[in-house]
Order: sequence, then C-alpha cells, then structure tokens
Amino acid sequence: MDSDRTILHVDLDAFFVSCELLRHPELTGRPVVVAGGGEPGSIGRPSPGRAVVSAASYEARPLGVHSALPLARALALCPELVVLPVDIRHYAEVSEQVFAVFHDYSPLVEPGSLDEAYLDVTGSKLLHGNGEAIARLIQTRLERELKLPASVGVASSKTVAKIASDLRKPKGLVVVPSGHERGFLAPLPVARMPGAGPKTTSRLHLVGIDTMGQLARADTGLLTEVLGPSAAALQRRALGEDPGPVRVPGVARSISREETYPVDISLRSELESRTRALAAGVGQRLRAAGLLAATVSVKLRFSDFETISRQATLPRPVCADVDLASAAQELVARAWTPGRTVRLLGVGADGLIARPAQMALFDSGEVRHELVDSALDELRVRFGPTAIIRGTDSLQESLDWNRDHLRRLGPAGKASN
Ligand SMILES: [Mg+2]
Repeated sequence: MDSDRTILHVDLDAFFVSCELLRHPELTGRPVVVAGGGEPGSIGRPSPGRAVVSAASYEARPLGVHSALPLARALALCPELVVLPVDIRHYAEVSEQVFAVFHDYSPLVEPGSLDEAYLDVTGSKLLHGNGEAIARLIQTRLERELKLPASVGVASSKTVAKIASDLRKPKGLVVVPSGHERGFLAPLPVARMPGAGPKTTSRLHLVGIDTMGQLARADTGLLTEVLGPSAAALQRRALGEDPGPVRVPGVARSISREETYPVDISLRSELESRTRALAAGVGQRLRAAGLLAATVSVKLRFSDFETISRQATLPRPVCADVDLASAAQELVARAWTPGRTVRLLGVGADGLIARPAQMALFDSGEVRHELVDSALDELRVRFGPTAIIRGTDSLQESLDWNRDHLRRLGPAGKASN
C-alpha cells in the first residue's frame, strides 16, 4: 500500500526576492537581497544597522551573499547590491495564490512555510499523471501564471521529497523512484537531512559519519550513545524510511475507536468482525465531521500487555466503511499471529482532510459507498447503533445486502416497506 505513495515537496526559489521582482521587474537580473531586522531603506542605498539578509537573488549568491548573513557583510562583498526591506504582508498575499495552485492538484497540502509545502498526490495520479508530471504542471503554472520559480522533489516520503527539492535549485526537479530511496540518499552529506543541525552533524563527524550512507550503516547502539534516543529515528530516515503522513492543518488530527474485552479474543473470525465494527464506528464519525482519512491505523494489546500499532497510507483518502475496514483488517492480519489472545483492539484514522463537495473527484465507486454508508448512518441515528449490523461472512456479501436494503429504502432513502 505504502509503496504507491507519492509525495511532492514544492519549494519556491528565493521567494521573498521573487515576490519583490513581481513589483520591481526592472531589478530582474541584478544582485538583490531582501533584508530585515534593521531600518527599512529605499531601493539602492540602505542603512545596514543590524539587519540580516532574509533572501538573496541567485545573481547575488555567487558573490557569497546568502540568507542569515549580516547585511553590512553582504554590502562589503557586493557594493552594488540592491537592498529591499522585508514586506511580509505582500509575500503572504502572493503565498495564497501559490497555495491555490497546490490545491488544484491535491486536497492533502501541508504548508511548511509561506513558500513551501508537502503535497500527497497519491490519489491525484489518475487525474493528472504520475508524480513527475504533476510536479512539472505545478512548476509550469507557477512560472506562467505567477512568474515564480520553484523547485520540486518527488518521492515516496516527506523526508526524501524535501531533500530532493533542495538538490538542484533553482527550478530543479528531482524524482526519486520508489525503492531507490536508500541509494539516492547514500552519497549525500548528513547535513542534507531535515532536522540534522550543526550540533548533530559535528557529533556524527567525530565518529567518522559524514554521509547518509554511513549513517544508515552505522551501529544503532553507537549512534544512540552519540545522539541520544532520537538516533534510531534519524537512522531510519537515512534509510529512506519515513511513514509520516502529510498533515492538513485546521482539521482534527485523528479519529479513533478502541475497546477492551472482558474476555480476551482468540478467534480470527471474532477479531475480524470486531475490526469491521470499529472501522464502521470510525467511518461514521468521519462522515459526520465531513472528513476523509489518508491513513488507517490499528492497535492491538495482547494478554501479556505487549502493544503493537500498525499504520498504512491509502491510495486515496476515504471515509467509506468498506475501505476503512479492509485496510484495518489487512493491518490486523499483519500484526496478529494465531494463538495470541487480544485484550484491546483499536482502529484509527489519520491524515484527515475536509471532504471535497465532489466525491467523484476521487472515484465514482466512492459515491456508491457514500450512499450506502450515509443511509446506514441515518438508520443508526433513528433506530440506535445496533439497528443495522453488517453481514459478517464477507464484505462483498454485506455490501450486496446493503444494496438490496438501499433499493428497498427507495431513492429518497426513506423506508418504504
Ligand atoms: Mg524556498
């Protein structure tokens, strides 16, 4: 399931400078910086004070001018430098237009800052082509419609996509095919890893680790001594493993249901039917909140109190019981071995997004499930949660039963018999 996941990291190039060039096109091609923290100056001759460079044009960078450099130093390096004050309100307005373009290609957009975002386009590929094609569409639209250059990384995880987007700036496009993450990362310096600051990299350097490949191969025990408890997670990311979902701000982070049994469950069939019931409970809450889930998770606690969690990102965000249940059952089957008895079971939905008005955007099959589920939700509300119990022999049968039931309900969803 996860191998199909496609994530874009889109990062605009020298964004503050690019925004300034939109309203000062005459400065195009000249060394320009946007600087803040000092006194705002007019174009040409600023008073540097304590200001630092916030963004530098690609014309200024070969001269050694880069962001975080004190402005006085930048002017010493490049006396003809054009200095503009930071105007964050203008950049925020431009940013809104940029994000409107992102949202044309996926509802799953996680902003990193004004000028960068992760997009989970797994569910958009049927409509727009593969990750590389979507990346080119976005780059072309930003360039043509907004006159803004951007770099994009395409990969199966957020970490690898972010590293890829940073590799060939400006106007870069780096695609890391699924399965090639480790080989892609191996030769890169550890400092390329998001979150690996100077302290981490210098500690790693002391034990002879300079590249991600060396980090991936290192002894985890040694790494933990050097870096502390975060070492194992960093090492997994150096291997290209990063299951973290693209998180859309402004909606609940997750919805879950779990139950503890008075008598531990030991039968596969019982485990399957409880998983399906819990998934239906999660589905009902998703639909009531108008949300779709990109990720499904399960939690099992065994009678010896060992607890296992498993999660999977779905090919497209869903809210139908049948989709949630089949994903959850697959995860339970992976986590459970016959003979183990289960005292607690949970099903959760993560990576939640607001459900688009047009469900057909994702899949016409979704509309059908949607009708079935909303009819059942209505009956549960009217007659209580036990009024409708889905067939337990197979999902297909239960669906057929539901369709028959729907037919009997009639097109308006009202009981007619
Ligand atoms: Mg940027």
